[in-house]
Amino acid sequence: MAFPIRVCAVCSEEFELNPDKPGFANRCPACSETEDAKPVTKASRGADERQSLKEANEARRRAMRELLYRKDS
Ligand SMILES: [Zn+2]
Repeated sequence: MAFPIRVCAVCSEEFELNPDKPGFANRCPACSETEDAKPVTKASRGADERQSLKEANEARRRAMRELLYRKDS
């Protein structure tokens, strides 16, 4: 019996939606495994995102401050 073919929401690969497949229905088995089996990777990736977000905010704040100072002087 053939299972319906779905496109993975993470890697855009087509996969067969096996009813026994663990994880999300819109993710291929490989991507479901990555999420389930490696929470550390997910956490560190989140930390990286937070870090770059923080840097972006600081850069923006610095630019704003320079703009204000330039206006004052
Ligand atoms: Zn995938």
